[in-house]
Amino acid sequence: MPRPDPATPEDAVELAAALDELEALSRFDVDGIGDRAQQAEDAARALGAPELELRARLVLADLARRRGDVAEAGRIARQVQRWATDADARHVLSRSHFLLAAVLQELGDLSLALEHAVQSVHLLGDEDPPVLRIDHLARMADCQGLQGDEGARERYAEVLGLAEQLGDVDRQLLILNNWAYVETIAGRYERALGLSTQLQALAERHGVPLHVGRLDTIARALLGLGRLEEAEHALAPGTESGALDASPDGDAGADFLLTLAEVRRRRGHVAGAQEVLDECVRRCEQHGLTAIRVRARREQAELHAAGADYKAAFEEHQLYSQAALDLQSAQRDARARALQAMYEATEARRQSRRYRELSLRDPLTGLYNRRFVDDQLPQLLDRAITTTEIVSVALVDLDHFKRVNDTWSHDVGDQVLRAVAAELEVAASGGAAPGGFAARMGGEEFLLVLVGGDLPRAVRQLDDLRRAVAAHPWAELADGLTLTLSAGVATTAGGAWTALADLLSRADEHLYEAKTRGRDRVVSDLG
Ligand code: GH3
Ligand code: MG
Ligand code: MG
Repeated sequence: MPRPDPATPEDAVELAAALDELEALSRFDVDGIGDRAQQAEDAARALGAPELELRARLVLADLARRRGDVAEAGRIARQVQRWATDADARHVLSRSHFLLAAVLQELGDLSLALEHAVQSVHLLGDEDPPVLRIDHLARMADCQGLQGDEGARERYAEVLGLAEQLGDVDRQLLILNNWAYVETIAGRYERALGLSTQLQALAERHGVPLHVGRLDTIARALLGLGRLEEAEHALAPGTESGALDASPDGDAGADFLLTLAEVRRRRGHVAGAQEVLDECVRRCEQHGLTAIRVRARREQAELHAAGADYKAAFEEHQLYSQAALDLQSAQRDARARALQAMYEATEARRQSRRYRELSLRDPLTGLYNRRFVDDQLPQLLDRAITTTEIVSVALVDLDHFKRVNDTWSHDVGDQVLRAVAAELEVAASGGAAPGGFAARMGGEEFLLVLVGGDLPRAVRQLDDLRRAVAAHPWAELADGLTLTLSAGVATTAGGAWTALADLLSRADEHLYEAKTRGRDRVVSDLG
């Protein structure tokens, strides 16, 4: 059976270009983008290209968010973000921040959303496509604007200018729509109308039909200014057959109908208003659009009142109030659950890393413990064989330490152990190559591991440590206190593979010799 062709660099280049395109398109609702992103993810996995795989996964997660699965999108974005942080993958990191900004915006945490949006902008580089800069800056503007930050206006203007320079009409429309929406919810209807007019003119100039979501933005600005007839006129294209279902966004149709009902009611067309409100409710129920369903109840109460049916208006208003409360608490719960799912995984990881780290440390001195030595020293020796670097291990034992405890106190003894540990840390950082460390093997016995250099250098370092400990101002700790140490040093020098147990037992023999020869000395393979 013929084997598949091995992956070539050209495949990766082609896939990267496909992902550039998918990322740029993902800002819009384009048919088939999900399938293409799925294919890209599969291809990247087959190529063994994790960065490309995760870029595709982020596109898919963003689609999940648009379909309403915000929590899932957030979970994936966090997962990708952790990978990108560890791998130092700047582009992927920027894209994960971009998605998280959208997720948090939907979960109602605007200030956290803004932080992610800011990161998503900062992490972009010159080699990233300019449309991504526009998208990331625009999301930052949305986050600022929804928080009522005046700085949003300047940001929108900047990003609109960038889209104009590129001649990117789709992005200009998107930015104008969002900017107008932000001005509307801030109650600045004149400004919203100015932007809406620009939006309409641009769409017309380029023959782009405005979908119902955008018609709704324009109508709301007019509604805010009390220009009811113009508002209904602005909505007219959406009432043509098929227009509602052409909308890319499931909610947009129901939203549009609700605005139309309000416009008609306020213009005194109760029957026409009821007709579109019924259709709105039907869509809400069909698609499970709970939030719009609640607003439809309030509109229904107003409609009953406009038709002088005050009893029905009162009852509907009661239903509305209850539904609004239920919705609020359901949303609060859902947000809490989604945020928790997003953040608890990292918290758990952080905790377990912390505990793991703690379990490898000696609590009294903070040095590594014997478990760490058993775990790490064999690996360190293996690596040293590859790099042909010499490893020296020294067993260090304090002289007559029992006397310290007996003459002064156990507490003074503990303080001595901590002070010696600090000297050992200094010695450990003085190896010829990185990777050395100090550990407490138990009681007043320590291990110092030095990487690189040669045996005479290691012996000199141990002797420096010996003199530093002897010269330490112990009397400041307790009157008349003095302290020395003995050390035995063994090394891998000589080229032959040295087993850990062998190395340690040689060091121990040398230590024993140092003790019997009168203490306060360093004995090694050299003698
Ligand atoms: P030598 O020079 O032969 O090594 O004599 P030494 O007194 O240091 O040797 P020995 O092993 O007999 O005594 C070690 C003492 O260290 C015994 C024990 O009380 C003390 N020790 C062990 N762990 C601790 C500790 O965590 N804190 C304190 N303060 N003392 C400890
Ligand atoms: Mg001792
Ligand atoms: Mg001892």
